[in-house]
Amino acid sequence: MHHPAASVIRNVRLDGGSPVDIRIADGVITGIDDSAAAASDTASDGVVDGRGLLALPGFVNAHAHVDKSWWGLPWQSYGGEGGTDGRIRHERARRDELGIPSAETTAHVLREFVRHGTTAIRTHVDVDLGVGLRGIEAVREAAAAYGDALQVQIVAFPQDGVLRRPGVIDMLDSAAQAGVEFIGGLDPAGIDRNPVGQLDALFRIASDRGVGIDVHLHDPGDLGAFQIELIIERTLAHGLAGRVNIAHGFALAQVDAAHRRDLLQALAALDITMTTVAPLRLPQLPLQELDAAGVRFGFGTDGIRDLWSPYGTGDLLGIAWQYARASGLVRDDDLRRVVEIATSASAPFAGLYAGGLVVGGRADIVLLDAENVMDALVRAPEREMVVGNGRILFER
Ligand SMILES: [Zn+2]
Repeated sequence: MHHPAASVIRNVRLDGGSPVDIRIADGVITGIDDSAAAASDTASDGVVDGRGLLALPGFVNAHAHVDKSWWGLPWQSYGGEGGTDGRIRHERARRDELGIPSAETTAHVLREFVRHGTTAIRTHVDVDLGVGLRGIEAVREAAAAYGDALQVQIVAFPQDGVLRRPGVIDMLDSAAQAGVEFIGGLDPAGIDRNPVGQLDALFRIASDRGVGIDVHLHDPGDLGAFQIELIIERTLAHGLAGRVNIAHGFALAQVDAAHRRDLLQALAALDITMTTVAPLRLPQLPLQELDAAGVRFGFGTDGIRDLWSPYGTGDLLGIAWQYARASGLVRDDDLRRVVEIATSASAPFAGLYAGGLVVGGRADIVLLDAENVMDALVRAPEREMVVGNGRILFER
């Protein structure tokens, strides 16, 4: 794919301020100048007319599954049972006939993410006895089409369970040796029914191979909180501070306030981060409490249009909206903070560099027609242009 470079984006607004020109060289923002002052530049290749649009940093999708979608294929009716295990079985029964995973289906998902403004992605990729490490290869192939214009970080994800499927631990170890940045886990109690066993195995690999850990934890209430405590203990014991993420972590929003405060303090002390997909029918991770404790978190779309559920789009800003709305946030400061978490504040914890719209920052830029950041969040208008690492990835 050819993505032309932008050298200057003229006449855009940052958070509702007066118009500026953003200068770019080698994928880095090299200047942000008053738009009138720079207007004497002659038009040439790489000059973009920003038309007074609002500029935001690129969105960070910190929890995705780009390998498992049927985006781009005809409608697929859900024919499986309910519950996590029912969905896992349904996916395993049908994915082969749909050609999942493949570089082609992954490319459809990446295109949806990019055209909605996402420029950095942490994706879980299924690793199991059926597909082995094939999904990881497919995702790498699809991501390579964007070169360094799109950041894609891979978590080797044991979707079908870890200890209950002998051989999966060895696959995760192989994936770690083969260069994935993270290994995943899945409900150590709910799925494997052996929380200590699964977590010990994951942390041993992370420690031996120098990779991070990103655990899906749907287990609710006290059972989930117990596993958060096990993760905290092992992060400390293995010296993996700053390398561990808990995805979903529904339990944190379900336990009582005093228990949650203790957990948040322990998570912050070890820089254990969290990702949420802003679930509609469950309490949200509380913004003020996480910020007050210093627990960093990010938003993700989760799987979209896959063999678990037909729902989801590639719009990370839509997830930020859902989180803000479901959390009852109405004040400007809170809405701004949510957009930060969807953009520049999410990137550092995901290990994906993005400095925000500042000189020296990576030129990941989204243009949209909005009055200010709050208006962009609550209305989630169409993206007019998406620039990744200084390259124009999408233009409406
Ligand atoms: Zn997930």
